[in-house]
Amino acid sequence: MSTEAHTPRSVLITGGNRGIGLAIAKAFAANGDKVAVTYRTPTDLPEGILGVQADVTDEGSIDRAFSEVEAAHGPIEVLVANAGITKDTLLLRMSEDDFTSVLDTNLTGAFRVIKRASKGMIRLRKGRVILISSVSGLYGAPGQINYSASKAGLVGLARSFTRELGGRGITANVVAPGFIKTDMTAELPEETQKDYLSRVPAGRFAEPEEVADVVRWIASDEAGYISGAVIPVDGGLGMGH
Ligand code: NDP
Repeated sequence: MSTEAHTPRSVLITGGNRGIGLAIAKAFAANGDKVAVTYRTPTDLPEGILGVQADVTDEGSIDRAFSEVEAAHGPIEVLVANAGITKDTLLLRMSEDDFTSVLDTNLTGAFRVIKRASKGMIRLRKGRVILISSVSGLYGAPGQINYSASKAGLVGLARSFTRELGGRGITANVVAPGFIKTDMTAELPEETQKDYLSRVPAGRFAEPEEVADVVRWIASDEAGYISGAVIPVDGGLGMGH
């Protein structure tokens, strides 16, 4: 991983006040970049990270948050669409609202933020978009029809985006984590956690920093010719998918 000095970039991570998003924010800040995160719930952030309030289901709040970051740090050059939710239950018990609300946050939310970010990136003639998907998106997971559909959708989004904007110095990639130790997975029943663990070839769950380092690398100069790719960070859980 390159630790060479570089011109600080304006980086924005959605849902960066905790979990994987916060680890990603810290990784870019350690790299010398100008880092902003969106939050819904006000949280104490580490020094040097700018917090802006936004709900990715609300286009107006996204626009306001982007304008705030642009005023403080300049046009956004690296966007990490990380905000996500689960509403797990089996198909027959899943309401239409359980389905559409997860899609609205995880997939349409990513659409809203990449659309807003792309305007500045086109003007800059460079940019990096990283979409945080999940092993569930391609491997599937019982009880996650809504979540898996939303995370699979991010692959199509990144690939169409790459075909539209790849010629303008902008890349878009998908990072697909497996089981990472955050609030999201802490909520899962112990039995479900044991079942996942038994299927992870690495024999352990990962820390958020292990995802963050890969995201930072995908946004580095070294990874400039990677676009439309799906990069798993899952200890081998989703191999081949
Ligand atoms: P957490 O539940 O710890 O954090 C989720 C983050 O998303 C929070 O910052 C939350 O903000 C934000 N968020 C949720 N809904 C919205 C919304 N409508 N608008 C703005 N922000 C929102 O999750 P993780 O850190 O574990 O997950 C981060 C991403 O990684 C998600 O996309 C998740 O699907 C994905 N992922 C996680 C895995 C894991 O094992 N943990 C595995 C694979 C993928 P707030 O604090 O305000 O609620």
